[in-house]
Amino acid sequence: MSVDLDRRGFVLAAGGAIAASAIGPSALAQTAGRKVGYAIVGLGGYGLGQIIPQFKNCEHSRLVALVSGDPAKAKRVAAQYGVPESGIYNYENYDSIRDNPDIDIVYVCLPVSMHAEYTIRAAKAGKHVLCEKPMALSSKECEAMIAACRQAGKKLMIGYRCHFEPFNLEAIRRARAGEIGKLRYFRSEHGYTAGDPTAWRLKKAMSGGGSIMDIGIYALQAARYMTGEEPVAVYAKETTDRKDPRFREVEDMIEFQLEFPSGVIGSCMSMYSANRNQVLLMGDKGRIELEPATNYSGQRLWVGKGRENEITPPQGPGKNQFAGQLDHLAQCVLENRTPIVPGEEGLRDIRIIEAVYQSAREKRRIALKA
Ligand code: NAD
Repeated sequence: MSVDLDRRGFVLAAGGAIAASAIGPSALAQTAGRKVGYAIVGLGGYGLGQIIPQFKNCEHSRLVALVSGDPAKAKRVAAQYGVPESGIYNYENYDSIRDNPDIDIVYVCLPVSMHAEYTIRAAKAGKHVLCEKPMALSSKECEAMIAACRQAGKKLMIGYRCHFEPFNLEAIRRARAGEIGKLRYFRSEHGYTAGDPTAWRLKKAMSGGGSIMDIGIYALQAARYMTGEEPVAVYAKETTDRKDPRFREVEDMIEFQLEFPSGVIGSCMSMYSANRNQVLLMGDKGRIELEPATNYSGQRLWVGKGRENEITPPQGPGKNQFAGQLDHLAQCVLENRTPIVPGEEGLRDIRIIEAVYQSAREKRRIALKA
């Protein structure tokens, strides 16, 4: 456990926007000029709206291919972002990416139920994978994804962009440096108001579950990276109005408590019926607060007794969390290193989420396996 804590502490402190400095100048010089090629699978809200526009901010990554079920959209996006026609694929001919040497990494931006299949097919086609969160529908699927990438000798990273977000990194650094004394309590509330009842996120077969799979996972992740500890037990309670057409299949509110080995208590709330995005870390000498904590932008951070001391972290080399994430995996490929948020990290969260669901169902504390 202590080795793991040290590893997490170090990689987080060194990660993200400043990851380049962790590699060393000579290694970087050897790979200078080579940009790693990404194929984006799924041109939806996240892939098209957030990720594709970020390649212009990357140093080591470039967009070389698109995989979409909509040929007209793919053609339009390809023209806009300079992707050659030979780099356009659909879900039927997806496996032929194996014949495209420009594609190094496949970024899976699909509904959760498709993550395992498209990750495993990418690995079999000889490509590294960046897969969106939550990693998959179940821990069993996560294990199969890890095994497939390992067997193919390919890297697997999960799209946990907050590990590359300067305000989160600054909060972690200050907590580790003891600025708020001994940690006692972590609290995080994450939620937004779900809309269309027919959306895939509200269909259990496609999402794997409700708010915790989509948004509460940020609270869980933050509990782990802010404390630098792994929870040993969970206790959860679900509150869902099953008459609401949005929540026939998945949960709305789920509250979960995490017990950490040091005695720190983590208290997390996940919801699909209110907007909230906050992290609070309390120590015996003060508190660290982030709000919003894990949004795409606009983070604010306070360190002290309350909100009197607002902190703006020093700017890194100009990369935001999205570009930092893309370039991190690109650098891992160039340098043959393991990403700081590998498949195992996604699997851990899914195992904890499974225990959270079990706890809510059985109304009892569930111990987590080490
Ligand atoms: P979306 O619904 O906007 O896009 C999904 C894409 O998958 C669309 O292009 C759609 O056409 C395609 N698709 C292919 N087959 C499909 C099918 N059978 N049913 C539905 N869509 C199908 O979703 P999104 O918001 O882009 O989410 C995609 C992934 O990205 C999810 O895993 C989600 O959790 C993740 N995500 C991550 C973040 C983050 O901040 N890291 C933010 C948003 C979404």
